[in-house]
Amino acid sequence: MTQIIAPPKEAAKETKAQRIERLKREKNPWEVFDEVRAFAREGRSSVVPEWANAYFKWWGIYTQGDGIGAVGGKGGEGLATEYFMMRIGLPNGLLTSHQLRTIADITERHARNVADITTRQNIQLHWLTIEDIPEIVDELTKIGLSPKGACGDVVRNVTGCPLAGIDHEEIADASSLAVELAHALVANPEFYNLPRKFKISATGCPVWCSYPEINDVAFTAIKNNSGEVGYTVRVGGGLSNEPHLAVKLDAFVRPNQAVDVARAITAIFRDQEVLRESRDRARIKYLFMKENWTAESFLAEVERRLGYKFEPGAPEKLPEDVLRDHVGIHKQKQPGLSYVGASVLRGRLTGDQLAAAADLAERFGNGQLRTTIMQNLIFVNIDTARAGELAKELQHIGLHVDGTPFWRGAIACTGTEFCKLAISETKGFTRWLVDELQESLPQFDQQLKLHVTGCPNSCGQHWIADIGLEGKKIKHEGKMVDAYYFCVGGAVGAHAAIARPVGYRAPATEVPAALTRLLGAYLNERTPGEN
Ligand code: SF4
Repeated sequence: MTQIIAPPKEAAKETKAQRIERLKREKNPWEVFDEVRAFAREGRSSVVPEWANAYFKWWGIYTQGDGIGAVGGKGGEGLATEYFMMRIGLPNGLLTSHQLRTIADITERHARNVADITTRQNIQLHWLTIEDIPEIVDELTKIGLSPKGACGDVVRNVTGCPLAGIDHEEIADASSLAVELAHALVANPEFYNLPRKFKISATGCPVWCSYPEINDVAFTAIKNNSGEVGYTVRVGGGLSNEPHLAVKLDAFVRPNQAVDVARAITAIFRDQEVLRESRDRARIKYLFMKENWTAESFLAEVERRLGYKFEPGAPEKLPEDVLRDHVGIHKQKQPGLSYVGASVLRGRLTGDQLAAAADLAERFGNGQLRTTIMQNLIFVNIDTARAGELAKELQHIGLHVDGTPFWRGAIACTGTEFCKLAISETKGFTRWLVDELQESLPQFDQQLKLHVTGCPNSCGQHWIADIGLEGKKIKHEGKMVDAYYFCVGGAVGAHAAIARPVGYRAPATEVPAALTRLLGAYLNERTPGEN
């Protein structure tokens, strides 16, 4: 039987933050999955608001929007439907064909054949009924995957370099660290009640496609002056309404210290009661933005908790501005092997495509795949002599190993189609926008990060895009319609910067024309060699 704890009498006066904090104190949702099984037996109407609005997230599950959300649709109205969406965590984006085939099967049977690769290397499913959920969680558990911790006030999916172990240039294969961090921290009961979500990445590559600058904690591999490999640590990155690039701690962290460092930082975050007063200010970045913490004071607290001091950090070379989509056929460091990166426009795939991808990964390689933060899919360990053949097969299933700069650079969050926080529709809009730009600017020849996000929460990472579009509603010809605010000049790496809102906004239907004018002017006015 589901146990419902009555809220205290003063509940009516509770703020949202107080209510969520109370719910978290009352229950660790990971310990009571039997309650979900009971909902599944008793049907959607048995789901109590505490679960629908909060506890489900600890199991990677949200109630979803109505699946309509077309341009000019009903976004932002918090539509409650009988359906749920679920994120499946994939530490470092690592996937096997066996796992992918199971996800494909779940997508076809339970999710109306729609799956999205997210900007944290997860796979997200929609249209799930409460009756389906226990079966799906059980099936995922059997293949070593889980939605646990993919949402909620917990450590989220640990991201990493999708080329870990195969990249010529990598300093270290940090995927084992990413997986270790996931095992140690994600779904760890010690950290089931954090002030809010907590994002960790670990990468050993020199181009940082896991975007350490926008994670709460990020490890990037580095060599010190003696040639020893270790990690630099950054803390306090995040986007949302008030973007903040992570600060670097002056410490050289040895590989065997990294998990303890991450644990100590997560504990520091957990213990900051001040961050629990407002949901809008409950990220670790606010210690630096509002509470006067500095890189020095933060490191001192980490060292105090661990009981030892670190050597100073090694000098690092920040990555230049390169497109990190890994699309195309590229040689691996292993002789005779290549990886083949397929560009998945806005991360959207069907169950059939997932199943076909699993088959191709086995036919042409050893069944290993990786998801990326740019919402793409990489096939690894492919016999170089057959990589071209794989590319043709991928073309047949609608996955491209090349593409225009618009196709390759477009990213989209969930939007009103399924996200109840969304203001504007994103996935259909992005597909249409890319089609329009390909037609209006066929001569466009530069890489371009074009990120579309359906609300200020910035899951589509518009703050670090060359052109970021933030969803709004505006009145147009007498009707409230989807619209976008334009932000330009965001970047990570050596030229890291938050994109600047330029004060221009347009109804969604007018965005392609506006971008055509902007990018056309750039093409006409750029100096030779300018990117
Ligand atoms: Fe939803 Fe907003 Fe995140 Fe997009 S940015 S997925 S609309 S919360």
